[in-house]
Amino acid sequence: MPNDAFLRDFLAAMPDPALLVGQDERLIGANLAAESLLGTGIVGRHHAFVLRHPEILAAIEEAWTGTRAEARHVIPRASHEVIHRMTAARVGDHVLCTFQDLTDRERMDAMRRDFVANVSHELRTPLTSVLGFIETLRGPAREDAAARDRFLAIMQTEAERMVRLVRDLLNLSRVEAQERQRPTERHDVALLIRSAAHSLRPQAEAARVKLTLEGLEASADVPIDPDQITQVAMNLIENAIKYGGPGKEVTVRLDQIQTPRGAKLRFAVRDQGEGIEPHHLPRLAERFYRVDSHRSREKGGTGLGLAIVKHIAHRHDGKLVIESEMGQGSTFTLILPMG
Ligand code: ADP
Repeated sequence: MPNDAFLRDFLAAMPDPALLVGQDERLIGANLAAESLLGTGIVGRHHAFVLRHPEILAAIEEAWTGTRAEARHVIPRASHEVIHRMTAARVGDHVLCTFQDLTDRERMDAMRRDFVANVSHELRTPLTSVLGFIETLRGPAREDAAARDRFLAIMQTEAERMVRLVRDLLNLSRVEAQERQRPTERHDVALLIRSAAHSLRPQAEAARVKLTLEGLEASADVPIDPDQITQVAMNLIENAIKYGGPGKEVTVRLDQIQTPRGAKLRFAVRDQGEGIEPHHLPRLAERFYRVDSHRSREKGGTGLGLAIVKHIAHRHDGKLVIESEMGQGSTFTLILPMG
């Protein structure tokens, strides 16, 4: 039979929090991970003082009979809950309790559930509207040519919204799937941005926004995925046009900066819109996060554009920086390594 010193060494070697309950129901050992989870100085105390949840105590009780038992262990913290799965198993004259951290997994599960709920909601709204109009067109508005044209136009807008949503969802999942593969081929970022700006000129004119390009004459070859950088340029310039406002200017600028981690390429899109309140900034690139949902929908937004930009930035080992001043406008900047 191994002695207590051996068991304590054994606990210390385990990477997850682990503790050992002796026959007198006191803790005879706990590794550092267990102490940082449950508090220092727990060794020697009765296990019911340290692990207060009834399910945990029941699991330990069950373990004494020789049956392995599990229970959820939750510690509420200021910002979030720390969740573990505790497994209790009898080891000779002791019960070994190990804790597996489920916090991240449960958080991911919650995010996935929220995402599916959001996508369903985003699709249901236009679908309900299209179905409503189909019903009206087959019934009350059957013979009304003017109403028919009007309803068909709305149905088209709604169907196009769904197409954009599905396109952005596919883009997002593609970018996420590639996130660990850094692009290696060099392409001219200036050329890609110039073409993106060029293709958005009609949209800028329609919105009466002046589109100005700076620093885009010379080529800038860096390792990138050209389709993705085009997408970043399109999303950022399109947002600046949408949220900038008529009569205002949108400046698209490319330059180099020196940072402690070497030279970087800086691509900035600045608008003169209303600006974004500071508390929104950290969440702006989350999927479906919008400052004003009504306004975003009205402008045909999917709420996924900046999430896609952020993932593309990560894939390139770059970052997205958002700055905004109320009444002055916003600047969205992509920083890329020069390779
Ligand atoms: P959307 O399709 O709604 O535009 P995005 O992911 O591109 O989705 O942007 C998320 C939200 O960020 C927008 O709904 C809007 O509230 C805000 N936003 C994005 N770009 C700008 C900008 N240039 N000026 C002000 N707000 C912006």
